[in-house]
Amino acid sequence: MKALVKAESAPGLVLQDVPEPEVGINDVLVRVTATGICGTDLHIRAWDDWARGAVRTPLTVGHEFVGEVVEVGANVNDFAPGDRVSGEGHLVCGRCRNCMAGRRHLCAATETIGVTRDGAFAELISLPMTNLWRHADDVPDDVAAIFDPLGNAVHSALKFRVLGEDVLITGAGPIGQMAAAVVRHAGARHVVITDVNPDRLAQSVAMGVTRAVDVRNESLADVQRELGMAEGFDVALEMSGQPSAMHDIIANMSHGGSIALLGIPTEDFPIDWTTVVFNMLTLRGIYGREMYETWYAMTVMLQSGLDISPVITHRFSHRDFEEAFDTAADGRAGKVLLDWTDT
Ligand code: NAD
Ligand code: ZN
Repeated sequence: MKALVKAESAPGLVLQDVPEPEVGINDVLVRVTATGICGTDLHIRAWDDWARGAVRTPLTVGHEFVGEVVEVGANVNDFAPGDRVSGEGHLVCGRCRNCMAGRRHLCAATETIGVTRDGAFAELISLPMTNLWRHADDVPDDVAAIFDPLGNAVHSALKFRVLGEDVLITGAGPIGQMAAAVVRHAGARHVVITDVNPDRLAQSVAMGVTRAVDVRNESLADVQRELGMAEGFDVALEMSGQPSAMHDIIANMSHGGSIALLGIPTEDFPIDWTTVVFNMLTLRGIYGREMYETWYAMTVMLQSGLDISPVITHRFSHRDFEEAFDTAADGRAGKVLLDWTDT
């Protein structure tokens, strides 16, 4: 079968023939129809420091996908050929304290498809049945393809109560934009998003934000005054990984406010801990999705009117992956999809 592979320890990816994956007795084989390109895939293609440390070649990359079940192992009785599914990309051990307590997103022995084992940018992927989510019929294919990053947005956005609250989101990338639509759907009063990229700020207006703020020219203190906010943001979602965004958040929170941290910083940086302490802020790291409460929440919010489709700005054949990756990397696009039905 065809797969997009990091073949050797050097920048780039190749579309090449690889053996079809094995299907164990507890596994499900999925024919991939569409995939989404994530920042992780861009890091692996660029072969930066993080990628060199995390990936062993050869590796089939990718983790955001939707597809159709084509074969099930002998122990599998609740999936059948024809089911439309996506995969939870985190494979947990099932035996540690957190797994045994049902807190699978906190497993310390997590493996990641497309990073530590073969991924989804391929005609076929085989996954344990415990890692599959069957889509409701009314979820569009394009949206189903990006349930993985939508899950990052939903996990962060629903970590703290947002009903009636003022929410600050730093970083208007695809995940920040989806999180904006989610907190809006969940009943936030003001949703303010920040970025330093005018294209992304313009895209986030379509996601229903109250204000899209270019932090190079505007201060959040002024925006708070303009909106008639008296006490600061109640909830913040850090979705840029940038030190200055974290600084903006801590300087603009209400006393007792809560901060969900999804963005992955590339270096250590100072934090104004005095304000964190005196203003009694809560900081919470977020990784992946809750299995499978986040997946349930995504589905029912989409069924009750959440629309994240504007975040998808480009679609390419998997054969044009170079152009697709360049588009995703140049910072102006939202979510970029690859079509795998034309193999
Ligand atoms: P992205 O890189 O597309 O978006 C980040 C955005 O932050 C960009 O639009 C960038 O212009 C903006 N930005 C840069 N400097 C800024 C500043 N000073 N203030 C505000 N915004 C600024 O990334 P994405 O795909 O939307 O993902 C968001 C973040 O979440 C990334 O850091 C990514 O690595 C991380 N991530 C974490 C997890 C997890 O499980 N924890 C999963 C997926 C992604
Ligand atoms: Zn575990």
